[in-house]
Amino acid sequence: MPTLFSRIINKEIPATIVYQDEQVTAFKDINPAAPIHILIVPNVEIASTNDVQPDQEQMLGHLFTVAKQVAQEQGIAATGYRLIINNGSDAGQEVFHLHMHLVGGRKLGPMLMKKD
Ligand code: 5GP
Repeated sequence: MPTLFSRIINKEIPATIVYQDEQVTAFKDINPAAPIHILIVPNVEIASTNDVQPDQEQMLGHLFTVAKQVAQEQGIAATGYRLIINNGSDAGQEVFHLHMHLVGGRKLGPMLMKKD
């Protein structure tokens, strides 16, 4: 069964795709947490960071060059942005198809909420 993100990558479900090549697809998050919120996703299904393999290092590194390019295109390269990868339950990962969140367009505040 393809993941939700594979269905977006294959254009079976609509999304605003801002970048796509043979390795990676980037599209707008449906529920943005900031003015710019884009998901950068490997085209191959990798459930989470726990599942990455050494032979995927080049492709995973490519996520960063795509993030840089998309940040420039979205006009937030100079003002700053945050890249987030959630892994597993404690991080709140909802979609088990590895993805990098690119968020920016406002002051993002502290990286983590401190527990009382
Ligand atoms: P996670 O919590 O797994 O790191 O992030 C999953 C992200 O996927 C969330 O920010 C959520 O808003 C986004 N998302 C969930 N379903 C869809 C969808 O159908 N389309 C798009 N574009 N984003 C989605």
